[in-house]
Amino acid sequence: MLSGKTAIVTGGSRGIGEATVKKLASLGASVAIIYAGSEEAALVLRDECKDNYGVRMAAYKCDVSDFDAVKATVAAVKAEFGGIDILVNNAGITLDGLVATMKEEDFDKVIAVNLKGAFNFIRHVAPHMIRARSGRIVNVSSVSGLMGNGGQANYAASKAGIVGLTKTVARELAPKNITCNAVAPGFIRTDMTKAFEGDERITSAVPLGRMGEPHEVAEVIAFLCSPAASYITGEVIRVDGGMAM
Ligand code: NAP
Repeated sequence: MLSGKTAIVTGGSRGIGEATVKKLASLGASVAIIYAGSEEAALVLRDECKDNYGVRMAAYKCDVSDFDAVKATVAAVKAEFGGIDILVNNAGITLDGLVATMKEEDFDKVIAVNLKGAFNFIRHVAPHMIRARSGRIVNVSSVSGLMGNGGQANYAASKAGIVGLTKTVARELAPKNITCNAVAPGFIRTDMTKAFEGDERITSAVPLGRMGEPHEVAEVIAFLCSPAASYITGEVIRVDGGMAM
């Protein structure tokens, strides 16, 4: 379904990003995995997808919050693969704390990675998609950005920012046949949510009664990248077991 397409997945080394890399590669896309620190995981994933799906794969170490590093990485992906059809802005971090005591650097850091990181990649990938008159962008938001969440002023602000960024990019790039959508996961079982595993307060807040799995988010991301989603743009799809309805 995605053969001949090239995808960039940020934060592709672990969790939801890793599941997304596998899903896109299984559908025939060539994938550039962007990671920050988990080099070994990224290289193992790269080789596994090459072997299992016979697609072209590469891994790039890049801090998404660094504008110039992102520019150089996008240029390297373009040189390696020849084009960029799909961008998944998934890299993200949490530095939780109550707003009355939150450190300034913790606010800035979360905004820099989660929000500016997505801007950086869109900023450098969009010119290539505009020239090609085609493209798919999917940004990973969160239910925290839709509902707010105590202890996450920085994170919720970054994820609400992703929603505004998504809708604006969708409007700007629609005339160029480029769609931009977001997914808003709830509690998904990854390293980010390890501390919540088995916590009944979490599962009782979720109508489906359990945490989600990374592949359940990856399926929706892949749908938004597929031909089936050609008339969807500016949309935010919750993948949260009903938590934020
Ligand atoms: P995770 O398991 O902690 O993985 C985070 C990924 O982001 C890793 O691949 C990490 O790379 C990468 N990353 C972090 N900082 C980066 C930076 N500065 N530059 C480049 N890459 C960076 O997280 P996850 O749970 O899969 O979350 C993925 C996305 O979903 C995030 O945007 C998160 O906010 C969002 N989300 C998650 C949940 C959830 O319940 N898990 C819910 C809602 C939204 P390295 O490992 O190489 O450092």
